[in-house]
Order: sequence, then structure tokens, then C-alpha cells
Amino acid sequence: MSDCLIIGGGVIGMMSARALAISGATVTLIEQRACGKESSWAGGGIISPLYPWMYSDVVNELSMASQAVYEELCATLFADTGIDTEYIRSGLLMMDEYDRYEAIDWMAVHKVNAEKHPQGALFTAVAQVRNPRLLKALKSDILKRGVEIVEFSKVEELIVEKDKVLGVKTEHKNYYGDNSIICGGAWSSALLDIKNEVYPVKGQMIVIKSKPGVLEHIVLDKGRYLIPRKDGRILIGSTTENVGFDRSLNKQVGVELLEFASSRFTALRGASIEHHWSGFRPASKSGVMIKKYEKLEGLYLNTGHLRNGLNMAPESAERLLALINHAN
Ligand SMILES: Cc1cc2nc3c(=O)[nH]c(=O)nc-3n(C[C@H](O)[C@H](O)[C@H](O)COP(=O)(O)OP(=O)(O)OC[C@H]3O[C@@H](n4cnc5c(N)ncnc54)[C@H](O)[C@@H]3O)c2cc1C
Repeated sequence: MSDCLIIGGGVIGMMSARALAISGATVTLIEQRACGKESSWAGGGIISPLYPWMYSDVVNELSMASQAVYEELCATLFADTGIDTEYIRSGLLMMDEYDRYEAIDWMAVHKVNAEKHPQGALFTAVAQVRNPRLLKALKSDILKRGVEIVEFSKVEELIVEKDKVLGVKTEHKNYYGDNSIICGGAWSSALLDIKNEVYPVKGQMIVIKSKPGVLEHIVLDKGRYLIPRKDGRILIGSTTENVGFDRSLNKQVGVELLEFASSRFTALRGASIEHHWSGFRPASKSGVMIKKYEKLEGLYLNTGHLRNGLNMAPESAERLLALINHAN
């Protein structure tokens, strides 16, 4: 019996587990595959919404509060686990949209300055993290903090008695806890009668090998972006596709992403694709779902972060913690 059962070991589940464990709760996290292999792995790791003025206030609040703690969080994870998440404030060069009225208004309201750049506007404060490493660091950290991680165990259903969730049933065994928290990413709807409130939006991305310094900043143009990693690799993304849970890769998409990169930066002409992958962003009608599930006692959701789960994760975990503390 744990204080908290977390369903799903992506960035949201593991960050939630960390916040709860730090607060003194006993936590069991149950993951159907290995932790950190779905959307949180597939993402780019930009610690900001792409065009922030296109998002709701709540997404911006969660993002900004998370941005304020990310650097220190990554430093703490490095000190505690020895895993370098490669948090880098590489800045984001925006080549379009920055001069629209909404953008100028948003920057004034949020006191965000963009520097003039020959190719657009440079948002110097925007950072990136190497998300697969962040996930490894989080897993290592929560294990050290005493979180029990159960992998390769799919939660099949909730154990409910008199409108209270007592625990979860997996294919192997049952787990019991005072609070159950669904952090199941794009799969979160499956355990509840909220079909279609959380649903997958597929994204395809590629990575090419280049040299460190060829690109200095994250680059964004027409919804496509380039993310230069420390070792010279450059991620190029991404598509947004409403195709359900179809993981298939379209070669033409890879070619188009490569063309996007070389059309913006001649130094990238002739590069070849090192890897091409897809992932399922958890979309939600409300933009993000961090809430107590009112129909059942002891049940919470932290999901539906769509394109911003990596950047909103720290504050999402704090909000979840506050909700649970408030209810108990
Ligand atoms: C191509 C792409 C680029 C992206 N770029 C960025 C970016 O630059 N910045 C950013 O902030 N965000 C980005 N995102 C979005 C971000 O990756 C997601 O918002 C975030 O990873 C969601 O985290 P999660 O933990 O909710 O989901 P996931 O990482 O998908 O984790 C959910 C986990 O729950 C498990 N699970 C589900 N159901 C069950 C069950 N019944 N039992 C047990 N386990 C279960 C799954 O196996 C999975 O491991 C991107 C996404 C994609 C696809």
C-alpha cells in the first residue's frame, strides 16, 4: 500500500513521482513499457512553447514557472545522479510570426525581450534539454528517493469501491494506494469514461549529424524547427498528424524536414538522416489536464500537455502535489 500510485512513467509521471517523494509520500509508479520511451523520449526538449502567444494563459503560466526552475533542477539532477541532461540556454531564433500584433502584445505583457537578428528575432532566454537524458536522470533520481518503479506492467483497470479508487489492476498484480494519478500521456483516456478528451497527435522528427557550432540557436520557422545539440547533432521537427496510434514513418516527411533545414542553412546541405522517429503527443481539449477527477474519490490526472509536456513538467508536478495535499 502506497500513499500514491502513478500510472505512466513519462516525464509527467516521473516528475510527479519526484515531487511527491520529496514531499514525504510513498510512491509506486507503474509503466506499461520501460519508463521514458514514449512521447517524452520522442520530443525535442525545447523548454518553451514554440510561439507562446498562440497558447492559453494556463499553458504560459505552467511554462514560465517551469522555465524559472529548470536550470537548477537539471543541476540538482546532475549532482544527485551524475547524468548531464545538457540543459543549454541556446536561445531561439524565430524567423516568422514574431512581428505580428499578438506576438508584440504578448512580449510586452510578459516582459520578454527579443533581440534583433539578421534572420528574425532572437529569444535569448529559451533553453533546451536533451530529453532522453533528462528521463534517465529522473528515473535514477526517483529510485534513489525510494519510489518503487514497476515496469512492463500495464494498468488494465482501476479498482473502484463505492466511488472511491482503491488502487489499480495490472496484468500481473494489484496495487493499492490512497491516491491514484493518471499520467498516461496519449493513452490516459483508456482508463476512464473520458474517451476522446485526451487523444494522440503524432509527431515525426529526424536527426542529422553535423558539427558543434554549425548552428548556435534553436531555429523556428513556419512551424518547423532545428535543435542543435551539444555534440553537433541537429534535431529537425516536426509533423502534427491526427492518425490515432499509427507509429509508421513516412520517408517523404524525412526528406521534407531535411529540405527545410538545408533551405535555411546552406551548411546543412548534403546532410543525411541519422534517425527518423515518431511519438504521440497527449492532446486534450482543455489544453492541459491537471485536476482531481470529480466522479471518483482518490483519483487525479496530470496529462494532456500536447506539445509542451517537457517544458511544463516541473510546475505541473507542483500543481498536482498541491491538489493532493489540499484534498488530504
Ligand atoms: C515529435 C515531438 C516533439 C516534441 N517536442 C517537444 C518540445 O520540444 N518541448 C516540449 O515541452 N514538449 C515536446 N513534445 C511534447 C512532449 O513530448 C509531451 O507533451 C510529453 O512528453 C508528455 O509527457 P507524458 O509523460 O504525459 O507522456 P509520455 O511520455 O507518452 O508518457 C506516458 C507514459 O504512460 C505510459 N502508460 C500509458 N498508459 C498506461 C497504462 N495503462 N499502464 C501503464 N503505463 C501506461 C506510457 O507507456 C508512457 O510511457 C514533443 C512531442 C513530440 C511527439
